[in-house]
Amino acid sequence: MDAQQVIAWEKEYLLGVYKRPPIVFERGEGAWVYDTEGRRYLDLVAGIAVNALGYGDPEIPRIMAETARKLIHLSNLYHTEPHVRLARLLVEHSFADKVFFANSGAEANEGAIKFARKYARVRHGEDKYTIVAFEGAFHGRTMGALALTPRPHYQDPFRPLMPGVRIVPFNDIDAARRAIDEHVAAVIVEPVQGEGGIRPADADFLHALREATRAVDALLIFDEVQCGLGRTGHLWAHEYYGVTPDILTVAKPLAGGLPMSAVLMTQAVADVMEPGDHATTFGGGVVVSAVAHYVVSRIADPDFLAHVRARGEQLLSGLRALEDPRIVEVRGRGLMVGVEFDADVAPFVARAPEYGLLLINAGPRVIRMVPPLILSEEEVDIALERFARLLKETPTE
Ligand SMILES: *Cc1c(COP(=O)(O)O)cnc(C)c1O
Repeated sequence: MDAQQVIAWEKEYLLGVYKRPPIVFERGEGAWVYDTEGRRYLDLVAGIAVNALGYGDPEIPRIMAETARKLIHLSNLYHTEPHVRLARLLVEHSFADKVFFANSGAEANEGAIKFARKYARVRHGEDKYTIVAFEGAFHGRTMGALALTPRPHYQDPFRPLMPGVRIVPFNDIDAARRAIDEHVAAVIVEPVQGEGGIRPADADFLHALREATRAVDALLIFDEVQCGLGRTGHLWAHEYYGVTPDILTVAKPLAGGLPMSAVLMTQAVADVMEPGDHATTFGGGVVVSAVAHYVVSRIADPDFLAHVRARGEQLLSGLRALEDPRIVEVRGRGLMVGVEFDADVAPFVARAPEYGLLLINAGPRVIRMVPPLILSEEEVDIALERFARLLKETPTE
């Protein structure tokens, strides 16, 4: 099939909920992806912060083939080894005592909501169920997670939403303290907001949330679906802050591009859940678990994390040196970087492929850079040079 045919069939047969550029991609290598015409693009999107190890890592297909030859699926009705080994690795490298595996970021957050609701009900009765979330948050598109994702365009067509949610301004300590009363079961927050515009939480804010939740025995949930697993140059984004949650959700990079997520929790949370309380058919399958074990082991290596911090600083300082009067702010941590403009960034995203670059936005005015974490020093320079040229030659409204 040629590229035009692929694009025509997409329009004819697929639900029109995505707008794609008119390029058909075929393969990737390192931090680069190639289209069917043989053009290559430096990828600052990485499958939306998924492809932490980049493209073409030979270990991933090797592990997939080796496990799949033995078993692809069995369900959670039976014991298998890979998810047990992965759970142990995650526990060893985090605050958590127990792990639940699922298949997407939204599904992990649904689990977190349910665990928090049950925890509150068991310990305090049926009037404690409210979940506090923040403006600018993104927790997913399923009905529970959607209620915690306060954006009219995402929510309004699908009302009524899950009740029992309070939305509070992000990084507003006083508003959060007022919202966290005895009816609150949990507070969910991204230590660095992703879709909302690459906005890091203030340290004081996260510490205040920890203190306020403890005071009413509410759970603190960190959604690290995007900012977790090495993205910020720390294994967990919250390590930078020195604040520990009760529940942590992880997904995007977890299984090297295969769909997988995890809910990490303390023993106190795990203690309220019993057999039959929650389940998922595919969660923690043998192939994804074996791949995720490899991915987490690679990312947890201190040298790997030091590389992410170094490349992140290089990228941030290069972006801060750009002289474009439309730039309002450059912010981020590790290889999770946002460039806020005083104009709509859609023209930059649309024209980036012409410069051999893939970019994504985070809201209307922020360019988000979430490249493969294996990006080299030279590739950061290439990205900066191409981005500078793109800005120079692209007018905005
Ligand atoms: C992407 C994302 C989700 C949703 O993950 P899906 O796998 O798309 O369901 C949830 N939370 C955050 C912070 C995300 O970035």
